[in-house]
Amino acid sequence: MDYQALLEQIQHQLQPVIGQGRVASYIPELAKVSPHHFGMAVVELDGTVHAVGDARVPFSIQSISKLFTLLMAFQCEGDALWQRVGREPSGNPFNSLVQLEHESGIPRNPFINAGALVLADILCTRFAVPENAVVEFMRRLAGEKDIQYDRRVARSERDTAHRNAAMAYFMRSFGNLRNPVPQVLDAYCRHCAIEMNCVDLARAVLVLANRGVVPHSGERLLSASAAKRVSALMLTCGTYDAAGDFAFRVGLPAKSGVGGGILALVPGECGVCVWSPGLEPSGNSLAGSLALETFTTLTGRSIF
Ligand code: GLN
Repeated sequence: MDYQALLEQIQHQLQPVIGQGRVASYIPELAKVSPHHFGMAVVELDGTVHAVGDARVPFSIQSISKLFTLLMAFQCEGDALWQRVGREPSGNPFNSLVQLEHESGIPRNPFINAGALVLADILCTRFAVPENAVVEFMRRLAGEKDIQYDRRVARSERDTAHRNAAMAYFMRSFGNLRNPVPQVLDAYCRHCAIEMNCVDLARAVLVLANRGVVPHSGERLLSASAAKRVSALMLTCGTYDAAGDFAFRVGLPAKSGVGGGILALVPGECGVCVWSPGLEPSGNSLAGSLALETFTTLTGRSIF
């Protein structure tokens, strides 16, 4: 498969829609990003990189961090994790509070904000400085030392995190957060504020495409069964309440973020990451979703 030519074709085909959609503005720092960026990268299991456009420009990974904090929390807790967070699509926006009351403070899945706050709580219990542990984990998976979180983005989100604070206090009232809420919110906002580019993210997700083994180091990070399960959760819950439509259109496990990134994988083959900050109303990148849809249409590489 000539992925380089394919990415160039996708970029060319998408020119008319790049810049459409709305940049997330509820986090003030994110509102400053131009909607006209577009980057896309494919990294194969043997490490071969194909990239176009802004694929090497760092962006705010936002909810894509939930995928990696899930891997870390799962390493800490094993299957006990599922007593504190569910595995069903929520069918509600990623920052919705409504289900939490009916479901006794147990979030529907780890990829909505409430679920990721539980993951952050687990990491706060386990690590003295959880954001450093997550950054270190990302560096290991991506094989890249320069990854960091952006302090301005983290501060900007923390200052306006009223909704996430409401969720966190609510879950704490049910006993599903163990650490002080401000500490959990600090960690969560810093995880979301990690900056990475498409190439590094596509490389980092290879651990799932490679059934739990980091290809460039040979390190087994999780069992093949756990990699399958996390990939399944990406398919059913990874793109907010548009996950059904995304599976229909794209047919790959994926995790999106309101920074405009979408990270996907083709099991046994490659990681794919696209970034374009203009969002659809669901919070997924508009050009990014179309790019991945075009990718699977042209290559036939979906899981179906
Ligand atoms: N940091 C964002 C928030 O908590 C992440 C949301 C997202 O990317 N969907 O609202």
